[in-house]
Amino acid sequence: MKTIIEPFRIKVVEPLKMTTREHRENVLRDAGFNVFLMPAEDVLIDLLTDSGTGAMSSEQWAAIMRGDESYAGARSYYRFESRLQQITGFEHIIPTHQGRASERILFELVGGPDKVIPNNNHFDTTRANVEHSGAVALDLVIDEGANPRSRHPFKGNLDIDKLERLFKDVGPERIPLVMVTITNNSGGGQPVSLENLKAVRKVCDQYKTPMFLDACRFAENAFFIKEREEGQSDRSVESIVREMFDLADGATISAKKDGLVNIGGVLLLRDESLYQNARNLLILTEGFSTYGGLAGRDLDAMAQGFEEVLHEDYLNYRIRSTEYLGKKLLESGIQIVEPPGGHAVYIDAAEFCPHIPSAQFPGQALVAALYRHGGIRAVEIGSVMFGEHAKMELVRLAIPRRVYTQSQIDYVIEVIQEVHAKRDEIRGLKIVEAPPVLRHFTARFAEV
Ligand SMILES: *Cc1c(COP(=O)(O)O)cnc(C)c1O
Repeated sequence: MKTIIEPFRIKVVEPLKMTTREHRENVLRDAGFNVFLMPAEDVLIDLLTDSGTGAMSSEQWAAIMRGDESYAGARSYYRFESRLQQITGFEHIIPTHQGRASERILFELVGGPDKVIPNNNHFDTTRANVEHSGAVALDLVIDEGANPRSRHPFKGNLDIDKLERLFKDVGPERIPLVMVTITNNSGGGQPVSLENLKAVRKVCDQYKTPMFLDACRFAENAFFIKEREEGQSDRSVESIVREMFDLADGATISAKKDGLVNIGGVLLLRDESLYQNARNLLILTEGFSTYGGLAGRDLDAMAQGFEEVLHEDYLNYRIRSTEYLGKKLLESGIQIVEPPGGHAVYIDAAEFCPHIPSAQFPGQALVAALYRHGGIRAVEIGSVMFGEHAKMELVRLAIPRRVYTQSQIDYVIEVIQEVHAKRDEIRGLKIVEAPPVLRHFTARFAEV
């Protein structure tokens, strides 16, 4: 097989700032060992997130210029609405400024004290919005999902036995909906199979409970289904995507992922009265229902992005290039969550730094080491982010869409290999300052 090349060429370039180790040491200390608190300009290769960090296409930039900034009924809104209706089959398409705005509206309406929301794994903002409503967020991913070495092809699957047990234990009255995150971001960017989505649907039908998707990476998930699930290889990604959405009663989407834009979100609903209530909340806090807190040009860029993300040569390049990074790390003896995810590679930091106990945040310590050594910005997904809910100590290397070339990824691999060779020198961290919620964004640390 020939090399899978980037299916685009570069039209505009953005120079990177080269920094010295001494400079990075100062930046790290000023930021309290928290990479969220440092200026992006001091980062060489930024793998903090794939959210809103992608490169837009020439067609998307053209769409930006076509944007209609009318307050109500803008052309850009209709273009966005019809594209999403076409992909998802949903009638009610609510634009929001990003995924968590969709979550906040949804859980304000269906959450509340006494309620329990099951998910394969809640993403951090999803958990925070569920808990903010007073409800309990439960993670019911299959056991293989918490084992970094398991090569299960669909490690994002929700455990059907655990779900049935939950319905029996707490009763359907307390479960306003079941959510499935595709792909499972907090669980290593692992996909969910069509078979699993159908099984969740069956349980939901049995208890007359709505099923929702956290569908940020719906296209990447569908591509994995096409590649890995029996009987799916001859289908188009578009038809798999449609089948996934057909199974659901609603979905929240951050368009900053598979929408291929820098800002934007969507809330999809079928239920008419839930839609009316959501629209009222949207108007109260986000904006009128035909712009939802966005500029018309943002809606136009989204309409174009949601089309481009289904191009299969793009998805093939996307999934293969993430896999490339993962494979090279594994070949160097660095344990990652296997197999590599769709949007990111997750290093097993507990394995990388066996001398650092969980209480000293091995993931955060490794993140600091990667920045110090090579100017690479990664993110901890472990005890800092999830506290006692953390099942693994991971460091996520998220790959922005259409941004970095293979030689830049080769540099990332070299840096990680060098840090690995001297991993005994990495020191644990302690928290010196932290807010009550979502502490990973603003906590400050010191070396122990
Ligand atoms: C990014 C993300 C969100 C939140 O979206 P924002 O646009 O960052 O608010 C929710 N769920 C998952 C799975 C995500 O990856």
